[in-house]
Amino acid sequence: MHLDRRHWLRAALAAALTCGPARGWSRSSHAEYPFALGVASGSPSHDSVVLWTRLGSGGLFSDAMGEAPVMVRWELATDENFRTIVRSGTSAAVALLGHAVHVEVTGLQPARWYWYRFASGDAVSATGRTRTMPAPGDTPASLRFAFASCQRWEHGWFAAWRHLLADDPELVVFLGDYIYEYAAPHGPVRRHSLTPAWTLADYRRRHALYKSDPDLQRIHQSCPWLMTWDDHEVQNDYADDRAEDLAPDFPTRRADAYQAWYEHMPMRASALRAGLAGLGERHAVRVHQRYRFGRLANFHVLDTRQFRHWQACARPGRGGQNNVSRAACPELTEPGRSMLGAAQERWLSDGLTDDVRDTVGWSVLAQQTLFAPRDLDPGPGESWWTDGWDGYPAARGRLLADIAARSPRNTVFIGGDVHQNWVTRLHARPERPDSPVVASEFCGTSISSRSGMPQTRADALVRANPHVLLADSERRGYQFVDLTPARWTTTLRVLDDATRIDSGAATLARFIVESGRPGPQRA
Ligand code: FE
Ligand code: CA
Repeated sequence: MHLDRRHWLRAALAAALTCGPARGWSRSSHAEYPFALGVASGSPSHDSVVLWTRLGSGGLFSDAMGEAPVMVRWELATDENFRTIVRSGTSAAVALLGHAVHVEVTGLQPARWYWYRFASGDAVSATGRTRTMPAPGDTPASLRFAFASCQRWEHGWFAAWRHLLADDPELVVFLGDYIYEYAAPHGPVRRHSLTPAWTLADYRRRHALYKSDPDLQRIHQSCPWLMTWDDHEVQNDYADDRAEDLAPDFPTRRADAYQAWYEHMPMRASALRAGLAGLGERHAVRVHQRYRFGRLANFHVLDTRQFRHWQACARPGRGGQNNVSRAACPELTEPGRSMLGAAQERWLSDGLTDDVRDTVGWSVLAQQTLFAPRDLDPGPGESWWTDGWDGYPAARGRLLADIAARSPRNTVFIGGDVHQNWVTRLHARPERPDSPVVASEFCGTSISSRSGMPQTRADALVRANPHVLLADSERRGYQFVDLTPARWTTTLRVLDDATRIDSGAATLARFIVESGRPGPQRA
């Protein structure tokens, strides 16, 4: 296990070191087109960005590229016809990393579009478009970004991505459940023949299946992404090293799933290195990162899976979620319980302090799930869902107290996971609706995953939870945000029918947050 990890790290470093000017040992041709999984870019800073692809052949789901490294050339230009190429080089796609390619291009101009492509032998990839962030001291007039989550293959088509493409975001923030690990021989909309993902090869095939979708490929091609994960990149409801099914070999499964995730996402190699070196043997990729958009916004991308305490009061013989009252589950409210882990909590707190110092307009907390309390018993009793923040009320209280201590600040949570749209006000003391509103929350619905909550029940929960401004439980879609120094405007976009590839889309609602006035308002 440890040997494997070090081997993996050495391979990643070796791959990075072989980057350089184009030369030598590229193979002259491929039997099949090797760029069938498309291209992507992400993790941008003001002067660099990650370009991604993964070579595959022999069908999407085999490892037929062989064991030898394959050299891949790349080019980055200031125009889509590649008349002005500003950077180029080669990178080795190695078998130990699934023939994935992560190029970190540096020395770029801030706040500008670039176009990139890869080549190997006589094959050339699709062209991708990417963008650098503004310089840290600049205050751009505006940003349009989108956020989305939960794209379960068998539950629907990715029409939402096609509609988002037309909305032309500069940046996409993906908040988890990029893949689902289940078998789906009888999927209600789409099916596949893969067995439940368990090994590295399984997770690679699963990512390859999802990456084969043309609508997903096109939205990746259109702009850079910020990435985090939730549970289904590994297993439903896992928490740190505990599996939902309590399988004793879960840490190996998790390490394999994390590696496959890194291989398929436009993350920096430093995320892999930091995960292996800085965070200890069990923690294999550092997902929590900050991405500054000049002085307009800072994206604090969080990881609520890797370091969390186990869910409180799991059912007998199980890990994962439950629904409990505080009286029946004293563990729920224990003050030491954390969703982020102590180190990430400190890192987030330091980052929020830096946002004040640097006069950053908007602090965006990009995380997995609904942050506001949601009592699932609309009657006199109470019922808390232990897999979400309601399972970690002390941690939520600490974070809100931290935010309140710095108020007034423009702090906005974006989330996913619940497959429903929720818009909420966040109070300094969440259990006290008479305490001041200190932050805003937009928890977005899924790209395709079903929700299972009828709207009548969502309506009842809104009546019982007065800090909730909107709960829409039956529709799929995404949200995009038009951000200026003075105002955050969220547009909730929903599909007519995610079971149709040609589904139309409509605007469900629009909310604004005014600078200096926490809490969403209906536009
Ligand atoms: Fe999901
Ligand atoms: Ca779950």
